[in-house]
Order: sequence, then structure tokens, then C-alpha cells
Amino acid sequence: AENFPTYIKLIIFLISLRLVSTVGKSKPWISMLPPDLQTEEMEVEYKLRDDPYSIKLASTDYGHLVREIPAAVLYPSSSKDIAALINFSNNVSVPFSIAARGQGHSVRGQSMAHNGVVVDMTSLRKFRNGSGIVVSSSPSLGFYADVGGEQLWVDVLHATLQHGVAPVSWTDYLYLTVGGTLSNAGISGQTFRYGPQISNVYEMDVITGKGEFVSCSPQKNSELFYAVLGGLGQFGVIVRARIALEQAPKRVKWVRILYNDFTTFARDQEHLISLNGRRQKNALDFLEGSLLMNQGTTENWRSSFFPTSDHSRIISLVTQHKIVYCLEVAKYCDDHTKNTMNKELGILFQGLSFMPEFMFEKDVSYVDFLNRVRGGELKLQSQGLWEVPHPWLNLFIPKTNISDFNSGVFKDIVLKRNITTGPVLLYPMNRNKWDERTSAVIPDEEVFYTVGFLHSSGFDGWESFDYQNKEILKFCETAGIKVKQYLPHYNTHQGWINHFGSKWKTFRERKALFDPNKILSPGQRIFNHR
Ligand code: FAD
Repeated sequence: AENFPTYIKLIIFLISLRLVSTVGKSKPWISMLPPDLQTEEMEVEYKLRDDPYSIKLASTDYGHLVREIPAAVLYPSSSKDIAALINFSNNVSVPFSIAARGQGHSVRGQSMAHNGVVVDMTSLRKFRNGSGIVVSSSPSLGFYADVGGEQLWVDVLHATLQHGVAPVSWTDYLYLTVGGTLSNAGISGQTFRYGPQISNVYEMDVITGKGEFVSCSPQKNSELFYAVLGGLGQFGVIVRARIALEQAPKRVKWVRILYNDFTTFARDQEHLISLNGRRQKNALDFLEGSLLMNQGTTENWRSSFFPTSDHSRIISLVTQHKIVYCLEVAKYCDDHTKNTMNKELGILFQGLSFMPEFMFEKDVSYVDFLNRVRGGELKLQSQGLWEVPHPWLNLFIPKTNISDFNSGVFKDIVLKRNITTGPVLLYPMNRNKWDERTSAVIPDEEVFYTVGFLHSSGFDGWESFDYQNKEILKFCETAGIKVKQYLPHYNTHQGWINHFGSKWKTFRERKALFDPNKILSPGQRIFNHR
């Protein structure tokens, strides 16, 4: 009954679009249609559904922590369907909320819409007819790809490689949509040098919260362009992004080195990311760090790397030191540079303070390197361990506080609780590779770290991880460490105001400008606390 008014509105919308389902007879709201319209509309292909399968899918996400039931799910066949839906919502007395859903790989319900409509962006892939990823070039931009917001990065990789080119900035995991990562930032080991994915976009087509189709770029409708990048889905639905491409390498030299001392680990990371010019020959192409803790294993789903024969001595090292810090770097090569690669890496590693007996290397194809997480995912899927709760916490931490964070969080909270089960990532990036004009929020220091607690839990046990997450945030607050959440989640309005800090005013003004009825991405809970 609570959904009743929404249904009526949706029906009117459906009729206006001729979208009503042929299988809709079982739906309570279909019978509300006037009889003459029922006969006519029942024959039309369906795009808006409220069947149990669609509703269930749209009311869950990768986190499995939050559940919000939408009134319906839109499976658009073109961006016009999305624009029509948003326009419709704007034109009824009480607008209903609308959330674009990419892969639904958020962990806190960010792509859900309680009582509203979830737009399943992936549906667009079926209707692109080859126009989902188009590679072109121009004298001013060089190579670029025009990519649908619904496309997966893994597909962007394969499509662009056919032209010998590829994007330069990635996420660790490639089965995420372009629209989903651009709504956050899109970070990985390339970020220190190439910036996040939002720093590598030339232009976008966006359907705003007012239902307008707008092309935007730094030169044209720039306010919308910067609002949408890192904008948590608040201002518009990205239906196309023009992504920067560069010549793709063929192979990757991939190295992991271990440290038992945090200070040297951090110092070496910071030194390596100081070499970060896009054209700088001696710069690394990828740098990430992670923690090995007493979990009885050296591997996790993010990648298996260490040779099996070395597992026992690595585990002994971890047992001895409780935390071992792993620095992971990569340098790309092609046919011309593959012979000089070892020499170049040797020069880069001079002066680093890792434990020389704990250096491991691999030579892999570029695709295998970028897609390194997929194998672990498939393994977990086959064991039924992928679709479990993921009480993740991702933070950005100013460099000056990273040592306090190590002792206060890793040593005093994480080690003592001893519940951490998933990967813990820790690596630095350079602020000057981020564009201040975007909506993304980062610490106010030239170098800052990202830390990711990528917990998996059983369906009953996730609260203890959540408790630990809260403890970590509390510690930072008390210690005066000005962390920023990445993939942020706050329960209070004040939490969001604090998160955006000096950007809050602009963020709020942009919302009023592009989505005045506060329709879009309600699952972020920024403007619509319940
Ligand atoms: P969804 O979860 O579907 O949506 C996220 C938000 O974006 C929602 O608010 C939604 O409404 C909005 N949105 C979705 N599509 C659009 C669109 N087209 N236009 C406007 N708004 C839209 N992130 C990193 O940066 N680096 C990583 O290495 C990384 N690794 C990950 C690994 C795994 C296994 C997982 C599950 C997540 C990882 N993430 C990583 C986080 C990921 O980037 C975000 O959760 C991202 O939002 C997921 O994309 P999605 O397509 O699933 O988006």
C-alpha cells in the first residue's frame, strides 16, 4: 500500500513510453490500468519490471549489508528511456527517486532506491550495436575511446587493445562499470603517476537530474563535467565518457618486495612515487602496498603471487613480525624495452631498504596483469564465497599521519582484534594528479595514502568488522588524523558536511542546479536521510 502512489505514477509513465510488460498480468498495478489501455499496452516490449527477480537483484549489492526495495527496475534500451524516466519523476507532484546501477559493486546500498526506480545500466549493453566502445583519434587528443557509462572496464581494455592502445588509469578489479567508477574516482597502483580515472576523461554525455541530455567537458558545461566526476551519482547519469588512451604495453615486469619495518616501507613508497612524470622514463607504472598479517596464508583473492615453495618462509616471517609490509610494483615494457627492463628496475631499486631475500618477480602479459584479480574472484565464486557480506572500509590518510595510523590502527586495533580476513591495502598517491574541481574529496596534503580494509565475512559475522571500522574511524578522530573516506558512507547529514569540508557548499549548489528535486542516487543518503 505504501508503494501505491508510486505505482500509479509509474503506470502513467509506462503508458507514455509504451513500456508496459507483456508479462505484467501478475503485477498488482497492471490491473489498475484502464481496460482499453491494458489491451494495447500489454503487447509492448517490457522495460520496467517489478518481478521478484528484478526487485531482488536491485535491492542488494556486493556489500550484502543493506537492503532497499525499489518499486520497479528500468531496463533501458537507450539513454532516451532514462531521460524519460527522470523527466517523468520531475513532473509528478511528489518526485520518486531514481538510481543508476552499474554492476552494483558498492557495499552500502549506494546504487539502491527505496521505493523508487533502479535503472539497470547494464541493460544498455545489449542495445549498443557496436557503439558501446568506439576508439578514435584526433590531432589534439591523440587516441581516445567513447565508452558507454554501462560498459565494463574489462571490455574497454579488450576493445582498445585491438587498436594497440589502452586507458592509463585503472582499478584493481575490472568488472566494474565506467559510470560506477567515474562516480567515485577509480584508483589503483597507476594513480600516483596518471591520476585516478576521473583525471583521464575528456568529455561526457550526462542525463541530469532535470532529465536534460547534456554533453560536457572542461570547455563546455564544465560545471556539470566536474560535478559528475567523483559526484557519487548525484547530478546525472553518465551515458558516455570519452576516455584518454595511450599506446598499450605488451608485457609487465611485476615485482613484490617485503619489509618488516613500517618506516622504511613508507619511505621507499614515497620515494618511488616521487618519480611520477607521465613521460618520465625511470618512473614506475604501478605501485601498491599491502599488509601480510598472521592469517596463516600469503595469498588472497586479489592475486596469488608468491611461489608455493616460498610460502612457508613468508609465513614464518609474518609469524615472527606479526605484520609484514609488501610493496608491489610494476614496470611496463614492449618489444624494444624488454631487454633493458631488469637494468631499469635495478636502478630504481637502488637505495631501497627491503629484505633482499624476499624479492619475488614475474613477467606477465599486460592483460593478465590488469586482470589479475579475476582468477581469485572466480575461485571464490566457485566456493560460494563471493556473494557474502563485505564490510569494507576505504580511507585516504594524510602522509604526515601515516606512522600514527600504523601504530594506532594496524598494531593497536587490527592486530589485537585479530579478525581481519581480507586484503589490507596501503599505498600513497600524489595530490597534484587529482583535479580539485571534481567532486572527489581527498586530504589536504601533497602526498596521501589510501588504505583499504577489504573484509569478507559470514552472513552472521559482519557486525564485528563494522565495529572495528567504527573503532578505526574513532581512533582517527581522537588522534586528529584528518582521514577522508573513499567510497564514502555516512549515517548523518553532518557526516557528509564534514566529509566534503570546503567542497560542501559547491556540492550542494551543484545539486540544486542539476538535480533540484533530489531524485538521483538516493542510496548515497547525502540529501535524503530517512
Ligand atoms: P554501482 O555500485 O552500481 O554504483 C555506484 C554509484 O554510482 C551509485 O551511487 C550509482 O547510482 C552510481 N552510478 C552507477 N552508474 C552510474 C552512471 N552511469 N552514471 C552516474 N552514476 C552512476 N574502486 C576503485 O577505485 N579501485 C579499485 O581497485 C576497486 N576495486 C574493487 C574491487 C571489487 C571486488 C569491488 C566490489 C569494488 C571495487 N572498487 C574499486 C569499488 C568500485 O569502484 C565502486 O564500488 C564502484 O561504484 C563500482 O562500480 P559499479 O559499476 O558496480 O557501480
